[in-house]
Amino acid sequence: MSNKAKKTVIAHRGASGYLPEHSIAAKAMAYAMNVNYLEQDIVLSKDNVPIVIHDIHLETVTDVATRFPDRKRDDEMYYVIDFTFDELKQLNVVERFNPETKKAVYPNRFPLNKSTFKLHSLQEEIELIQGLNTSTGKNIGIYPEIKEPEFHQNEGKDISNIVLEILNNYGYKLKTDNCILQCFDPKELKRIRQKLKSDLFLIQLIEFEDDEKRMQEFSEYADGIGPWYKQIIKGKDNNGNWVFSNLVINAHKNNLTVHAYTFRADQLGEFKSFEELLQVGLYQANIDGVFTDFPDKVVDFISKN
Ligand code: CA
Repeated sequence: MSNKAKKTVIAHRGASGYLPEHSIAAKAMAYAMNVNYLEQDIVLSKDNVPIVIHDIHLETVTDVATRFPDRKRDDEMYYVIDFTFDELKQLNVVERFNPETKKAVYPNRFPLNKSTFKLHSLQEEIELIQGLNTSTGKNIGIYPEIKEPEFHQNEGKDISNIVLEILNNYGYKLKTDNCILQCFDPKELKRIRQKLKSDLFLIQLIEFEDDEKRMQEFSEYADGIGPWYKQIIKGKDNNGNWVFSNLVINAHKNNLTVHAYTFRADQLGEFKSFEELLQVGLYQANIDGVFTDFPDKVVDFISKN
């Protein structure tokens, strides 16, 4: 893929830089920003409904601790899987916060405890996106992530099977169907391809240094990888030039697409601006697509390059 090939913009948990992550409002806003895909993290409820939420527990993005105070486990956490869909619908979703300090993780984002947001199912979100595709004439895709399959298995649930059946029912079956399925667990993603016989476009999420050496193995079942961008951009050398790992080159050699996470305008690290981070990531490192909390800024940046 050349440097000028079209880059892919994935709304990370929706337009989560502006509205509480994974709320329907954040998804509608991201949709209107003309991204390529909206992301859904998936965790099962007690009654096997796939819920769109980032963590397997609830207390960092909802009011569960005040609404159901006696439902925490011994580790002080409230698990999605211990609640029915009807119970989860009673919770209010808020901007991500630290349950101990009660402070927002990103203090300049949507204010805590303002307005009303709710959890929703994967089906509800697919119907939102497919409905908007009908009413706008656009064709924006979905990008579900199977969260912690081993945890689900230990709780007696096969999350991948349940999610694949729903995707199938909504018309997402093939690599060309505008759906990308992602998972951090290589065993599970391999199982999705080989045992569950999925023909969807699959992204192997990665987070470890050693993963750079596993590209050929990943290419046997996946279509791409999803690394943390710091696995690619390693910092600056003594002359002030950015230094890169061989991850993107090795991935491309194995025909793997690279969608890196997470590009945030309010978490720049050693970059002087969000534009610099995007320039270095997309055009110097040649990443094919980015997960971002600020989809409008990335769409705008790409349109000018
Ligand atoms: Ca995710």
